Amino acid sequence: MKSLKVNVEKLIVGPLASNCYIVWDHDAKEGVVIDPGDDAQIILERINELDLEIKYILVTHGHFDHVGAVAALKKELKSDFFAHKGDLFFIEDSDNAAMRWGFKIEKPPKPDRFIEDGDIIKVGGFEFKVIHTPGHSPGGVSFVYNAMVFCGDTLFQGSIGRTDFRKGSFEELAKSIKTRLYNLPDDTLVYTGHGPSTNIRTEKKYNPFVRS
Ligand SMILES: [Zn+2]
Ligand SMILES: [Zn+2]
Repeated sequence: MKSLKVNVEKLIVGPLASNCYIVWDHDAKEGVVIDPGDDAQIILERINELDLEIKYILVTHGHFDHVGAVAALKKELKSDFFAHKGDLFFIEDSDNAAMRWGFKIEKPPKPDRFIEDGDIIKVGGFEFKVIHTPGHSPGGVSFVYNAMVFCGDTLFQGSIGRTDFRKGSFEELAKSIKTRLYNLPDDTLVYTGHGPSTNIRTEKKYNPFVRS
């Protein structure tokens, strides 16, 4: 039996240094882009170099620094765009939100599908499970495959997502981290929305904001 090889590449994009991930099945050359926050040209060039078919554009939440390149990518790749309905407000307001921060993005199109807790997204020979992790925003989701989780701005290395933005809630965020992320296996690699990756064991033990 041929073993499955799933690759992850991180691109740091935009003025807020957001982590955009390309995740793909090495043999099938099929993949997804998670959180294309900005710099569509750089993301597209890399996808081209890797010669990938991007099945889906996924976002962990609707803040402008995670959705800024969705419109350009969708035009070029024709991939379906998936997001949680709880963040539709942010997606639809993202061009205005960027402007309030002094930046400019193209407003993303309406998601092709609203994803929910428990949904499975198949890509090549692997699949992501969607878990709902609200708190940083109401429609925040994380994507889990094997020993990896892409959690957007829910959990960071030694930190947690801000909850002082509109519709944020510290109680909800702490609950999401404790009941949805910290119950993943300790060795699970955490691919965060900004900054370095971490793992569940380290954050459970040392995260100064939310510990298990
Ligand atoms: Zn955010
Ligand atoms: Zn962010």
